[in-house]
Amino acid sequence: MPLNDLIKEYIKMKNYEKNPKLGYELAAELKRLGIDNPIKAGMDQEVVSQSVHSLLSALGIACDDESIQKTPDRVARFFTDELFYGLNYDNFPKITFNHNSYGYNEPVISRNISFKSTCEHHLVTISGKAFVAYMPKDRVIGLSKINRIVDFFARRPQVQERATLQIFHALKYILQTDDIAVMIRATHHCITMRGVSDQNVDNITYQFGGKFGEPVMKKEFLDLAKDKE
Ligand SMILES: [Zn+2]
Repeated sequence: MPLNDLIKEYIKMKNYEKNPKLGYELAAELKRLGIDNPIKAGMDQEVVSQSVHSLLSALGIACDDESIQKTPDRVARFFTDELFYGLNYDNFPKITFNHNSYGYNEPVISRNISFKSTCEHHLVTISGKAFVAYMPKDRVIGLSKINRIVDFFARRPQVQERATLQIFHALKYILQTDDIAVMIRATHHCITMRGVSDQNVDNITYQFGGKFGEPVMKKEFLDLAKDKE
């Protein structure tokens, strides 16, 4: 991709429209269900920077080295603005809908939504694909918004099971229907890099609601999710 396009993509990614009100409604809903992350306070970029400095020093690294001097600030910006922006419900994306005037009432399925997350036990990358389906009622969601919702909940220190449930319940709340399916297939780099060092393992989690809980629908969804590797 030419550099100009990359810059445009980046600006688009940073400047997406947000809906904090919806974000905090969802926060309350996820708390009620006991599935929100253990978030205790807002993020403080300056304290994160100081902490990264302490961490590097504790590892025996000379933080005044020319190459490393700016690392604490750089990492702090990266953590708060990108890697963990989903900890802040002010960043929840604005969701757009279209009226389902055409009466489409079969599943809408988004496959292979790529995401990157971070394992909260080792702070190492989890990379994977999400498969999401819903049955529209009166309104259909803008398709790219499903990617945004997946990305928002991925951008936290996470465990895959909880992320699956958060995406499921966020969609259930937003679309006001039980007919939702979410499946995540992911590689945990803490498994590939340490301990058992298995390079091939991936982990699958899913949650089905409403009509997707019926065996025929469940099978159709899982087959479609398997179809495209
Ligand atoms: Zn881990």
